[in-house]
Amino acid sequence: MTDQILARAVDGGRISPEEGLLLYETAPLEALGAAADEVVRRRYGDEITYNVNAHLNPTNICVVGCGFCAFAVWTEKDERAYAYSVDQLVERAGQLVDHGITELHIVGGMTKEYDLPYYEELFAELKAHGWVVKGVTAAAARGSGGDTQSAHFGSTGEDFAVVARLP
Ligand code: SF4
Repeated sequence: MTDQILARAVDGGRISPEEGLLLYETAPLEALGAAADEVVRRRYGDEITYNVNAHLNPTNICVVGCGFCAFAVWTEKDERAYAYSVDQLVERAGQLVDHGITELHIVGGMTKEYDLPYYEELFAELKAHGWVVKGVTAAAARGSGGDTQSAHFGSTGEDFAVVARLP
């Protein structure tokens, strides 16, 4: 069954969500990889692309303290703490763009100062400088950020997703 689904996908056919789940649960990893490789080569040949990614971190101060990351500190009194304004981050983004980056990965700790309006202003400024439309994309406020911001500061995960999609 999975062989037939993979053969159809390799030939450019669509697979249903149920078939995708079946592949996920039962298809041998090597067969999945081989099919995926054939699809990629059919569509793109030998072309390989990369993002040149840089982090833009507004702050490492975080009131959550979930322990997932290695960069957060719990208070501004910690000598390792940093907290940047929108202007400072925009200046830093300009330096990174000058170095040829193609993606900004924006991740920061969570405090009440770094809320949805802060990110709206930051993204609006990045857009206003034209960096996003020049090919710099922003991956931000994702994962724990969106959900936990929702819980702590009243913004919804959807709000953050919308901000992250600007423009
Ligand atoms: S919520 Fe994010 S920034 Fe805060 S400790 Fe966890 S991973 Fe680090």
